[in-house]
Amino acid sequence: MARITLRQLLDHAAEHDYGLPAFNINNMEQGLAIMAAADKLDAPVIIQASRGARQYANDLVLKHLIDGLCEVYPHIPVCMHQDHGNSEATCATAIQNGFTSVMMDGSLKADAKTPADYDYNVAITKRVADMAHWVGASVEGELGVLGSLETGMGEKEDGHGAEGKLSQDQLLTDPDQAVDFVNKTGVDALAIAMGTSHGAYKFSRKPDGAVLAMHVIEEIHNRLPNTHLVMHGSSSVPQELQDIINQYGGQMPQTWGVPVEEIQRGIKHGVRKINIDTDNRMAITGAIRKLFAEKPAEFDPRKYLKPAMDAMEKVCSARFEEFGAAGQASKIKVIAMSDMAKRYERGELTPKTTGVACAAE
Ligand SMILES: [Zn+2]
Repeated sequence: MARITLRQLLDHAAEHDYGLPAFNINNMEQGLAIMAAADKLDAPVIIQASRGARQYANDLVLKHLIDGLCEVYPHIPVCMHQDHGNSEATCATAIQNGFTSVMMDGSLKADAKTPADYDYNVAITKRVADMAHWVGASVEGELGVLGSLETGMGEKEDGHGAEGKLSQDQLLTDPDQAVDFVNKTGVDALAIAMGTSHGAYKFSRKPDGAVLAMHVIEEIHNRLPNTHLVMHGSSSVPQELQDIINQYGGQMPQTWGVPVEEIQRGIKHGVRKINIDTDNRMAITGAIRKLFAEKPAEFDPRKYLKPAMDAMEKVCSARFEEFGAAGQASKIKVIAMSDMAKRYERGELTPKTTGVACAAE
């Protein structure tokens, strides 16, 4: 059994200058595809489930599915992470069901659509961080609201996303506030807003600095060199996947994602976790559409789910390589959650921030 915490994985990634893709999961096929890619490339794994995924798959089925994947690949460290937790209860029940890490997204209120104020975000994130750290689990917080700098709108994914027009202030994480937030909450990783949004329709053209604010990452990293940064909504939405879907009957309007080279630039500036869901969804859909079009008499789900898994595995492999995670799994010796809990208790994992007096008690 090689379940690992997010904190240990991201500490390793920081020490060795690489980034880790965090792939969303809803079903067995996605789990098998991620693990097949990780196994071939010796890459550590972050699997994440949204609240929608937990409802879709059922908490217990998901728990045993992850156990199964860990058992099949005992040499691959697997972090199981709650994506966009909206409340203390969501995070607590995730840990109860075997998650080793949770995101408490206090940038939005518990309805997952109303932007919350800073004090709300600090208070709820700190409560979750305290609770998670008692049992050695890791916590990702979010500062700033995810949404498009082109339109000012958030994009809903799995029922999660800001509603209404957001201001530039909300859409770009403030570096000074980031320091204060990390000090006050004690989070292990920080998701920031810098122009990425969820879903496929991120940009109406290849993004430049006006709509993808990579300089915000650099400024935050300068002030928080020891904090692991997280890029959400970071699918690249490759042209070839759009083309396959549309060639076989799909109707996806032309769109642009986050170019891999921009993510690689982020990795040089403290980005350690990169969330990817859309690319895998598209790979699966393209492969299924192609098989349906070419073999319309086929009705055995395995006949189209196998090529779908192969297509997703290809995307996962590419990201493991591009982010530098390939070859890292075998270098990691998993620290048990109970030992991580002791490290938190001893203060070894308290955020080290520079230039600002520590506000944590
Ligand atoms: Zn996200």
